Amino acid sequence: MRLLVVEDDPDLNRQLSTALTDAGYVVDRAFDGEEGHYLGDSEPYDAVILDIGLPKMDGISVLEGWRRSGRSMPVLILTARDRWSDKVQGFDAGADDYVAKPFHLEEVLARLRALLRRSAGHAKSEFICGSVRLDTRTGRVTVEGNPVKLTSHEYRLLSYLMHHVGRVVSRSELVEHLYDQDFDRDSNTIEVFVGRIRRKLGVDVIQTVRGLGYLLASPDAH
Ligand code: CA
Repeated sequence: MRLLVVEDDPDLNRQLSTALTDAGYVVDRAFDGEEGHYLGDSEPYDAVILDIGLPKMDGISVLEGWRRSGRSMPVLILTARDRWSDKVQGFDAGADDYVAKPFHLEEVLARLRALLRRSAGHAKSEFICGSVRLDTRTGRVTVEGNPVKLTSHEYRLLSYLMHHVGRVVSRSELVEHLYDQDFDRDSNTIEVFVGRIRRKLGVDVIQTVRGLGYLLASPDAH
Protein backbone atom coordinates (compact mmCIF):
# COMPACT_ATOMS: atom_id res chain seq x y z
CA MET A 1 0.00 0.00 0.00
CA ARG A 2 1.35 3.36 -1.00
CA LEU A 3 0.55 6.43 1.09
CA LEU A 4 1.09 10.16 0.87
CA VAL A 5 1.82 12.30 3.93
CA VAL A 6 1.23 16.05 3.49
CA GLU A 7 2.45 17.87 6.60
CA ASP A 8 4.55 21.04 6.78
CA ASP A 9 5.95 20.42 10.26
CA PRO A 10 9.19 18.56 9.41
CA ASP A 11 9.35 16.67 12.72
CA LEU A 12 5.75 15.53 12.53
CA ASN A 13 6.13 14.61 8.86
CA ARG A 14 9.16 12.49 9.70
CA GLN A 15 7.47 10.84 12.71
CA LEU A 16 4.43 9.92 10.64
CA SER A 17 6.47 8.67 7.69
CA THR A 18 8.73 6.59 9.91
CA ALA A 19 5.81 5.01 11.77
CA LEU A 20 4.00 4.24 8.51
CA THR A 21 7.11 2.79 6.89
CA ASP A 22 7.71 0.64 9.97
CA ALA A 23 4.10 -0.56 9.68
CA GLY A 24 4.82 -1.85 6.16
CA TYR A 25 3.56 0.98 3.95
CA VAL A 26 5.41 2.81 1.20
CA VAL A 27 5.34 6.54 1.90
CA ASP A 28 5.78 9.66 -0.24
CA ARG A 29 6.10 12.96 1.58
CA ALA A 30 5.07 16.52 0.80
CA PHE A 31 5.70 19.61 2.91
CA ASP A 32 3.32 22.18 1.45
CA GLY A 33 -0.13 22.25 -0.14
CA GLU A 34 1.00 22.74 -3.72
CA GLU A 35 3.42 19.84 -3.69
CA GLY A 36 0.85 17.67 -1.89
CA HIS A 37 -1.87 18.59 -4.34
CA TYR A 38 0.35 17.80 -7.31
CA LEU A 39 1.39 14.39 -5.96
CA GLY A 40 -2.14 13.38 -4.94
CA ASP A 41 -3.40 14.43 -8.35
CA SER A 42 -0.79 12.53 -10.34
CA GLU A 43 0.15 9.43 -8.31
CA PRO A 44 -2.14 6.53 -7.38
CA TYR A 45 -2.14 6.54 -3.56
CA ASP A 46 -4.10 4.02 -1.52
CA ALA A 47 -4.66 6.64 1.18
CA VAL A 48 -3.50 10.13 2.15
CA ILE A 49 -2.77 11.84 5.46
CA LEU A 50 -3.40 15.53 4.92
CA ASP A 51 -2.71 18.38 7.32
CA ILE A 52 -5.26 21.21 7.10
CA GLY A 53 -2.94 24.10 7.97
CA LEU A 54 -0.43 24.10 5.12
CA PRO A 55 1.68 26.79 3.41
CA LYS A 56 1.08 27.73 -0.28
CA MET A 57 -2.33 25.99 -0.45
CA ASP A 58 -4.45 25.01 2.56
CA GLY A 59 -5.49 21.42 3.11
CA ILE A 60 -9.19 22.02 2.44
CA SER A 61 -8.42 23.49 -1.00
CA VAL A 62 -6.04 20.61 -1.72
CA LEU A 63 -8.73 18.09 -0.89
CA GLU A 64 -11.44 19.94 -2.83
CA GLY A 65 -9.10 20.01 -5.84
CA TRP A 66 -8.54 16.25 -5.70
CA ARG A 67 -12.22 15.44 -5.37
CA ARG A 68 -13.11 17.84 -8.19
CA SER A 69 -10.73 16.02 -10.50
CA GLY A 70 -12.22 12.67 -9.49
CA ARG A 71 -9.50 11.42 -7.13
CA SER A 72 -11.32 9.15 -4.70
CA MET A 73 -8.59 7.74 -2.43
CA PRO A 74 -9.38 7.73 1.31
CA VAL A 75 -8.13 10.90 3.02
CA LEU A 76 -7.44 11.28 6.73
CA ILE A 77 -7.14 14.92 7.72
CA LEU A 78 -5.09 16.29 10.60
CA THR A 79 -6.85 19.14 12.36
CA ALA A 80 -5.89 21.61 15.07
CA ARG A 81 -7.29 20.63 18.45
CA ASP A 82 -9.85 23.37 18.95
CA ARG A 83 -10.87 23.97 15.38
CA TRP A 84 -14.17 22.11 15.07
CA SER A 85 -14.87 24.10 11.90
CA ASP A 86 -11.83 22.40 10.27
CA LYS A 87 -13.50 19.04 10.75
CA VAL A 88 -16.81 20.18 9.29
CA GLN A 89 -15.12 21.83 6.31
CA GLY A 90 -12.86 18.81 5.92
CA PHE A 91 -15.72 16.30 5.75
CA ASP A 92 -17.65 18.57 3.40
CA ALA A 93 -14.57 18.77 1.17
CA GLY A 94 -14.42 14.98 0.95
CA ALA A 95 -12.37 13.80 3.95
CA ASP A 96 -13.06 10.26 5.19
CA ASP A 97 -11.79 10.64 8.73
CA TYR A 98 -9.83 13.01 10.94
CA VAL A 99 -7.39 13.01 13.85
CA ALA A 100 -6.96 16.11 16.01
CA LYS A 101 -3.48 17.26 16.99
CA PRO A 102 -1.71 16.32 19.16
CA PHE A 103 -2.38 12.67 18.42
CA HIS A 104 -0.98 9.27 19.24
CA LEU A 105 0.64 7.61 16.24
CA GLU A 106 -1.16 4.38 17.13
CA GLU A 107 -4.49 6.09 16.57
CA VAL A 108 -3.44 7.37 13.16
CA LEU A 109 -2.27 3.87 12.19
CA ALA A 110 -5.50 2.26 13.40
CA ARG A 111 -7.67 4.78 11.54
CA LEU A 112 -5.64 4.27 8.38
CA ARG A 113 -6.02 0.51 8.56
CA ALA A 114 -9.76 1.03 8.93
CA LEU A 115 -9.87 3.39 5.93
CA LEU A 116 -7.86 1.00 3.76
CA ARG A 117 -9.94 -2.04 4.56
CA ARG A 118 -13.19 -0.13 4.17
CA SER A 119 -12.11 1.12 0.76
CA ALA A 120 -11.44 -2.55 -0.03
CA GLY A 121 -15.02 -3.31 1.10
CA HIS A 122 -13.82 -5.22 4.14
CA ALA A 123 -15.05 -4.87 7.72
CA LYS A 124 -12.31 -6.70 9.62
CA SER A 125 -8.57 -6.14 10.03
CA GLU A 126 -7.90 -9.75 9.05
CA PHE A 127 -7.95 -10.79 5.40
CA ILE A 128 -8.57 -14.42 4.55
CA CYS A 129 -8.05 -16.18 1.25
CA GLY A 130 -8.43 -19.94 1.43
CA SER A 131 -5.95 -21.15 4.06
CA VAL A 132 -3.98 -17.90 3.94
CA ARG A 133 -4.64 -15.27 6.59
CA LEU A 134 -3.14 -11.80 6.72
CA ASP A 135 -3.65 -9.64 9.79
CA THR A 136 -3.10 -5.97 8.97
CA ARG A 137 -3.03 -5.14 12.69
CA THR A 138 -0.03 -7.32 13.53
CA GLY A 139 1.48 -7.75 10.07
CA ARG A 140 1.26 -11.52 10.55
CA VAL A 141 0.68 -13.98 7.74
CA THR A 142 -0.30 -17.60 8.37
CA VAL A 143 -1.11 -20.62 6.23
CA GLU A 144 -3.37 -23.12 7.96
CA GLY A 145 -2.46 -21.41 11.21
CA ASN A 146 1.29 -21.69 10.68
CA PRO A 147 3.19 -18.39 10.61
CA VAL A 148 4.96 -17.52 7.36
CA LYS A 149 7.90 -15.14 7.42
CA LEU A 150 7.73 -12.60 4.60
CA THR A 151 10.08 -9.71 3.90
CA SER A 152 8.48 -6.27 4.10
CA HIS A 153 8.38 -6.13 0.33
CA GLU A 154 6.70 -9.54 0.00
CA TYR A 155 4.23 -8.55 2.72
CA ARG A 156 3.30 -5.34 0.90
CA LEU A 157 2.69 -7.24 -2.32
CA LEU A 158 0.57 -9.94 -0.70
CA SER A 159 -1.31 -7.35 1.34
CA TYR A 160 -2.15 -5.34 -1.79
CA LEU A 161 -3.48 -8.45 -3.54
CA MET A 162 -5.47 -9.46 -0.43
CA HIS A 163 -7.06 -5.99 -0.36
CA HIS A 164 -8.16 -6.57 -3.97
CA VAL A 165 -9.26 -10.20 -3.85
CA GLY A 166 -11.20 -11.34 -6.90
CA ARG A 167 -9.86 -8.62 -9.19
CA VAL A 168 -7.02 -8.95 -11.70
CA VAL A 169 -4.21 -6.63 -10.65
CA SER A 170 -1.73 -5.69 -13.37
CA ARG A 171 2.03 -5.61 -12.86
CA SER A 172 2.15 -1.89 -13.51
CA GLU A 173 -0.54 -1.28 -10.89
CA LEU A 174 1.52 -3.28 -8.38
CA VAL A 175 4.62 -1.29 -9.24
CA GLU A 176 2.73 1.97 -8.73
CA HIS A 177 1.39 0.90 -5.35
CA LEU A 178 4.44 -0.85 -3.94
CA TYR A 179 7.22 1.63 -4.63
CA ASP A 180 7.65 5.27 -3.69
CA GLN A 181 8.15 7.90 -6.36
CA ASP A 182 11.95 7.85 -6.14
CA PHE A 183 12.27 4.13 -6.70
CA ASP A 184 13.72 2.81 -9.93
CA ARG A 185 10.70 0.85 -11.06
CA ASP A 186 11.00 -2.38 -12.96
CA SER A 187 7.89 -4.49 -13.32
CA ASN A 188 9.97 -7.65 -13.87
CA THR A 189 10.91 -7.67 -10.21
CA ILE A 190 7.21 -8.12 -9.36
CA GLU A 191 7.33 -11.54 -11.01
CA VAL A 192 10.32 -12.48 -8.86
CA PHE A 193 8.53 -11.43 -5.68
CA VAL A 194 5.35 -13.26 -6.62
CA GLY A 195 7.45 -16.39 -7.14
CA ARG A 196 8.99 -16.03 -3.70
CA ILE A 197 5.61 -15.49 -2.04
CA ARG A 198 4.19 -18.56 -3.77
CA ARG A 199 7.10 -20.67 -2.54
CA LYS A 200 6.83 -19.36 1.02
CA LEU A 201 3.07 -19.81 1.25
CA GLY A 202 3.28 -23.26 -0.30
CA VAL A 203 -0.30 -22.94 -1.55
CA ASP A 204 -1.46 -21.75 -4.92
CA VAL A 205 -3.58 -18.70 -4.13
CA ILE A 206 -1.96 -16.25 -6.53
CA GLN A 207 -3.00 -16.96 -10.10
CA THR A 208 -1.19 -15.53 -13.11
CA VAL A 209 -3.59 -14.18 -15.69
CA ARG A 210 -1.61 -14.17 -18.91
CA GLY A 211 -0.98 -10.75 -20.31
CA LEU A 212 -3.07 -9.09 -17.62
CA GLY A 213 -1.52 -9.62 -14.21
CA TYR A 214 -2.32 -11.49 -11.03
CA LEU A 215 -5.50 -12.63 -9.40
CA LEU A 216 -6.00 -13.69 -5.85
CA ALA A 217 -9.05 -15.88 -6.00
CA SER A 218 -10.68 -16.86 -2.75
CA PRO A 219 -12.20 -20.34 -2.92
CA ASP A 220 -15.08 -19.12 -0.73
CA ALA A 221 -15.66 -15.95 -2.74
CA HIS A 222 -18.66 -15.77 -5.05
CA1 CA B 1 0.51 22.58 9.61
